[in-house]
Amino acid sequence: MKRTHHCNELRPEHIGQTVTLTGWVHSKRDLGGVIFIDIRDREGRTQSVFDPQDVPQDLCDRAAALHSESVIEVTGSVRHRPEGTNNDKIPTGQVEVLVSALKLLNHAEVLPFVVDDPEIASKVNEELRLKFRYLDLRRPEMMRNLRLRSKAATATRVFMEEQGFLEIETPTLFKSTPEGAREFLVPNRREPGTFYALPQSPQQFKQVLMVAGVERYFQLARCYRDEDLRADRQPEFTQIDIEMSFIEREDIYALIEGLLKQIWKVSLGIDVPTPFKRLSFQEALDRYGIDKPDTRFEMHIQDFTEEFRNSQFKVFSGAVAGGGVVKALNAKGLACVTQGQMETMTEYAKGFGAKGLAFIKVENGEWKSPIVKFFGDAEREALTAKLGIEEGDLILFAADQWLTACEILGRIRLYAAELLQQQGKLSIDPKRFDFLWVVDFPLLSFDKENNRWYSSHHPFTAPVAEDIPLLTSDPKAVRGQHYDVVVNGVELGGGSIRIHQRDVQKTVFEDVLQIPPDVAQTRFGYMLEAFKYGAPPHGGIALGFDRLIALLCGTPSIRDVIAFPKTAKGTCLMTDSPGMAEPRQLRDLHLEVKGAKRE
Ligand code: ASP
Repeated sequence: MKRTHHCNELRPEHIGQTVTLTGWVHSKRDLGGVIFIDIRDREGRTQSVFDPQDVPQDLCDRAAALHSESVIEVTGSVRHRPEGTNNDKIPTGQVEVLVSALKLLNHAEVLPFVVDDPEIASKVNEELRLKFRYLDLRRPEMMRNLRLRSKAATATRVFMEEQGFLEIETPTLFKSTPEGAREFLVPNRREPGTFYALPQSPQQFKQVLMVAGVERYFQLARCYRDEDLRADRQPEFTQIDIEMSFIEREDIYALIEGLLKQIWKVSLGIDVPTPFKRLSFQEALDRYGIDKPDTRFEMHIQDFTEEFRNSQFKVFSGAVAGGGVVKALNAKGLACVTQGQMETMTEYAKGFGAKGLAFIKVENGEWKSPIVKFFGDAEREALTAKLGIEEGDLILFAADQWLTACEILGRIRLYAAELLQQQGKLSIDPKRFDFLWVVDFPLLSFDKENNRWYSSHHPFTAPVAEDIPLLTSDPKAVRGQHYDVVVNGVELGGGSIRIHQRDVQKTVFEDVLQIPPDVAQTRFGYMLEAFKYGAPPHGGIALGFDRLIALLCGTPSIRDVIAFPKTAKGTCLMTDSPGMAEPRQLRDLHLEVKGAKRE
């Protein structure tokens, strides 16, 4: 059962050779008794021919009886395809194998869905694809995704090794340190009532590795978060996790730019320009209304707070009087929006707490809007000048507190871009990757509901050195040494320079985040202790590996780049996990289950 070639290899120069191919029956056609079978393996496909003029009828009959996706081995001679029957779409499209021997290695039953037609396959219900994932993965597009993933992982390892990093595995049985997402708990049989937790990230271990003197650590780390899954999240996912000692933010920027450049080069042959642009958190929100801006198109948000401070239009002047802002964007050429699309945008605005959505449609040389009658000449001129208003444009406004106004228009900007793309008025090159750094985040955000400060990133992020004295006196003003790397509106990763001084870390836990000292001690005591014994200055970052691969593959869903993903409900449809435990297992774990739904 030794193949001589893979199914992507045969070319005219092989004509006349006797070859053996193994693989799956991809497709089968019967043209007047001559049977054509496209045989497929991981690498590609080749046409094989069973012609009763050349070989025994019995061989042709056996070929005709083969089911799709059965596993076969064929031996035959390579020949040119007849005039006019070349298939330019596949690399082996000039030749075919005239089969002299066929072995059925294994029969396949009728499949629950077809895998040979990309058009049809892309429409197959995803639940069915996930249940029969081993069939779904046979589709060449999925195989390509797995291959790209493997390539990118190897490129990462090679690059990091060259940069002097050690790949070190950290435990996935950890303990609970609720800092953000809910965790998966694993009961400990040996001591009733105690639990491991699966780590949300190797954050603490990687910092301790710096204390240990490792200096440069990385890992393709599996992480776990038990969140109610939004569309594109998985309960377990992979990060390229990195930590370095004796560095500053610039060192991380340079390292990651080099790594991403390398991955894009190796995987897609694309040269990503470096260094990446940088935007402050404030600029990102002001201009794009989001901290992970898609900068492949402009549609910048403009500020009109001053222009409308004394406006006759009370919604605007009132918002300014209340300490808020007036902002607007120009969705160029979108005056033709439908009523339904306007309603969708209004819903977005309301979702952020706005009462409505003010707009102007510029049609037939007129500004059509219920609000323009309140505008004076100066206001009109300012709008025209800053937004470059022309015939056919749609202007959308937000008048609210700064963050809310930014977020409303940020959401609308993305939706408007989607509509403009659908209408062919905006085109984005699918090979374009706009990388940038978002920097200068506030270290802390205030949670009104619980009346306390919490870390914008995580509690180990260092404040900018000169802001350390403000930690307790003016937490809002403290800038964090945090950075995010963003591409095409996707947050690819984030990290920070860490606190490495024990007293600063204690202040953050106890005085700023108000974690009671005994709780801080139980959760982070060992880290505070480690910081007593010579912790070097350090910092790091983690990149979402699944998301990165989805970008490389040009698919919107990370499920398409994970071999065995889970559904939005956190289940694996193929293995039917999670499953029930045996009573004996529960007894061993000292657990009793109440309210189980499944028998
Ligand atoms: N541990 C962080 C995360 O998982 C990344 C970092 O700060 O390095 O988001």
